[in-house]
Amino acid sequence: MRSPIRTVQIDRVGGPEVMRLHDVELPPPGPGQARVRHDAIGVNFIDTYQRSGLYPLPLPTGLGQEAAGVVEATGEGVTAVAPGDRVAYAGGAPGSYAEARNLPADRLVPLPAGIAAETAAATLLKGMTVEYLVQRTFPVAPGMTVLWHAAAGGVGLLACQWLRALGVTVIGTVGSEAKAELARAHGCTHTILYDREDVAARTRELTGGAGVPVVFDSVGRSTFTGSLDALAPRGMLVSFGNASGKPDPFDLQLLAQRGSLYVTRPTLNAYTATRAELLASAAAVFDRLGSGVLVAATPRRFALADVVEAHRALESRATTGSTILVP
Ligand code: NDP
Repeated sequence: MRSPIRTVQIDRVGGPEVMRLHDVELPPPGPGQARVRHDAIGVNFIDTYQRSGLYPLPLPTGLGQEAAGVVEATGEGVTAVAPGDRVAYAGGAPGSYAEARNLPADRLVPLPAGIAAETAAATLLKGMTVEYLVQRTFPVAPGMTVLWHAAAGGVGLLACQWLRALGVTVIGTVGSEAKAELARAHGCTHTILYDREDVAARTRELTGGAGVPVVFDSVGRSTFTGSLDALAPRGMLVSFGNASGKPDPFDLQLLAQRGSLYVTRPTLNAYTATRAELLASAAAVFDRLGSGVLVAATPRRFALADVVEAHRALESRATTGSTILVP
């Protein structure tokens, strides 16, 4: 049985206006696939990179990496989920900006009873990102001080809460006083207004001159050098995004001059490549939502039909916390 659904597609890269809603016929799920009817869709900054062409995709393409909803049908050989199951997913091939979708069943995560679809869509991808960054890319320890850029964003507010619970002091950068207040309310100890203040100098001041052992930098071009300058010798720059553009190519000598630094450029897909890793990372997020370590601030909601407006808000730094689309 085919079913008509509305989905967002682009046939060229560009600004938010290239995204259009299309009516398409969704075929029955193929072998290994499940069809998920979406109740809520997560909006992530990576969606803007894929739309703008910063991360090229074969065109035409759908967009969106994350959603939560209910399994409607399964294809041949599927054992991981069954029709009627509440599920969520994050990462993989784009296409979640849609009322429903077929996708590999082994990328679906069962949704615990206490977690609403909107909460899952607002926290799964961003929370799993925090999990792998602070527990596996650079395992933080109680008593450490770290620098986190864009601390009032979707990933940022979850990171502040996660790190506070681990006994880690967070120095967070933010674009405004209002965002600084919000970050502090979520567990960030010190805030730096990075459009006005010297991030490296302030970080050294706050750490008695030592610098930090790790910087989590998703802002990219505009913060990259300052991030290196904020590190203690043998510290690690975890460069995990490009909200201000891709960092420029750099001379490895910069790492030597600052005391044998490390730089890594990790991705969520690489850290959730196996089903065991995916389920463990999702469980780490759901457990913290259940225990109250993470309190998901009410996400900014847009109708699926208003996706253009949602991207404009995210890219103009007008949002705090998470953004979701509701079909
Ligand atoms: P955010 O809600 O954090 O939005 C991005 C924020 O970046 C803005 O709100 C803004 O905060 C800040 N920013 C600084 N400079 C700019 C600029 N020139 N243009 C736009 N924003 C700017 O988004 P997400 O929570 O969805 O994602 C956060 C980052 O993490 C993104 O870079 C994303 O790509 C990355 N990411 C990486 C993953 C990975 O595995 N590698 C996985 C998930 C996310 P302010 O106004 O305070 O400066």
